[in-house]
Amino acid sequence: MQAPGHTMMRVPLTLPHFLERAARLFPAVEIVSRLPDRSLHRYTYADFYRRARRLGEALLREGLRPGDRVATLMWNHFAHLETYFGVPCAGGVLHTLNLRLHPSDLVYVARHAQDRFLVVDDVLLPLAEQVCGEVPFECVYVVPLTGRPVPTDYRSYEDLLESATGHWDYPILEEDAPAGMCYTSGTTGRPKGVVYSHRSLVLHTLAAALPDCLGLSHQDVVCPVVPMFHVNAWGIPFVATLLGCKQVFPGPHLDPVSLLDLFAAEGVTVTAGVPTVWLGVLDALRREPDRWRLRLRTVVVGGSAAPESMIRAYDELGIAVLHAWGMTEMSPLGTVSRLKSTLTALPEDERYAYRAKQGLPAPLVEVRAVSDRGEVPWDGRTVGELQVRGPWVAASYFGGEEPDRWTSDGWFRTGDVVTIDPEGYVKIVDRTKDLIKSGGEWISSVDLENALMGHPAVKEAAVVAIPHPRWGERPLAVVVLREGQHAAPEELRAFLAPRFPKWWLPDAFVFASEIPKTSAGKFQKAKLREQFRDWSWD
Ligand code: ADP
Repeated sequence: MQAPGHTMMRVPLTLPHFLERAARLFPAVEIVSRLPDRSLHRYTYADFYRRARRLGEALLREGLRPGDRVATLMWNHFAHLETYFGVPCAGGVLHTLNLRLHPSDLVYVARHAQDRFLVVDDVLLPLAEQVCGEVPFECVYVVPLTGRPVPTDYRSYEDLLESATGHWDYPILEEDAPAGMCYTSGTTGRPKGVVYSHRSLVLHTLAAALPDCLGLSHQDVVCPVVPMFHVNAWGIPFVATLLGCKQVFPGPHLDPVSLLDLFAAEGVTVTAGVPTVWLGVLDALRREPDRWRLRLRTVVVGGSAAPESMIRAYDELGIAVLHAWGMTEMSPLGTVSRLKSTLTALPEDERYAYRAKQGLPAPLVEVRAVSDRGEVPWDGRTVGELQVRGPWVAASYFGGEEPDRWTSDGWFRTGDVVTIDPEGYVKIVDRTKDLIKSGGEWISSVDLENALMGHPAVKEAAVVAIPHPRWGERPLAVVVLREGQHAAPEELRAFLAPRFPKWWLPDAFVFASEIPKTSAGKFQKAKLREQFRDWSWD
């Protein structure tokens, strides 16, 4: 064996390369952001480069040390993108705070991460003020998005950038050095911190960009609707910057009409977000089919299951829904559902069934499903807990909580219950905590929800386990109807009946005006279970 020096160069995989490449090759490409007052802020990669570097230099002058956490409390826009690169390229760790968390959770997370600095949008100062008193930030920099003067208790982000000279060299960065940090949104227990390294972000970016993953190219105009505080907006800003795509950010305006206006005006080709966003957009498109001229080709849907009916409906509009599964602990890309070349001749229903699964593991991600009896076969029927391994999967939580989430042979337990079929497609049956156990048999709440959301009158549906004296647990469906639509429980039951065994069908349908959601827009089933805890079955 020869020494490693006799093979290829050992160039560290770090983020400054992204910044340098984008500025060198794509200086004139635009980055467009919608501001709180709805006006559009536009500048180029050349501007972005200058400002991101200034941020890095200025933070070092402020005393940033390698590995120090810099928190952000920001919407999706150009300045947030500047922190994505300015902070890690100066050796810091970008900690994106989830602005939808309760202030007490934000305090917990910021203290747990020991954040030294905070960068906050001026429009979010009322929220920041509820947090700052209880977190020892050394300095708070305010981004004046509205143009109003920054209150005197704080520093202006613009002044911070002004204080830089523009002349400095990146510090030497090891590829394993920490670069970013995100907390799980806490659907299951206290938020837990995950620290991304330069290397993990670079490798994740390369894989995410691949044609069989997100399939992005420099030709694309990319708009992440998924918040930049939610697992790095699924890594999209990193991919878009490395490739030099035009980037479009929605700011705080996330309602369907604002999004569609922005997509149409800026020629967005690829966007991404959770299913609830795309169900709303679909409604708007159906109401006014001729209002928008879109160039949209792909909508990446993840975070919770994309209902098959939604994938079909977007196909009819000529827009491909790309269903993906991931987790904060996985940077987040785990699986993507694209039809294999050997499956394209299948009947339509079977093709859709594959596309509605969570998909094939991305290159470099290994998956296995494990039950009490060991690893389960890839037969598409036997369920087990999904375990994963790969270079962008967390090796531990920040602070070392819950070490038993990792197996003794080095796999991460996802907490998702899945089947894997002979083709390798992973299908999420449920979260371990959401499964319904009736008469000793498992019922998938996700399958029932997705089928219900295929009923024309149903906007959203969540199915939860309710204690039952005879069966242990039975499914109860909470249904939100579309505006002006009606459907009786018997009708919904009859709609589900041909697709499921009789004992799977929910015993009760409750109509609600909304389903409680987490900060990331997922159904909060724990809350529903709590709400219906004393439900009486007779
Ligand atoms: P949290 O764990 O706090 O909800 P994450 O954003 O990390 O925050 O959520 C990851 C979880 O979201 C996964 O473990 C899975 O249960 C769910 N999830 C993500 N994508 C999908 C998907 N495409 N289909 C079904 N569930 C999904």
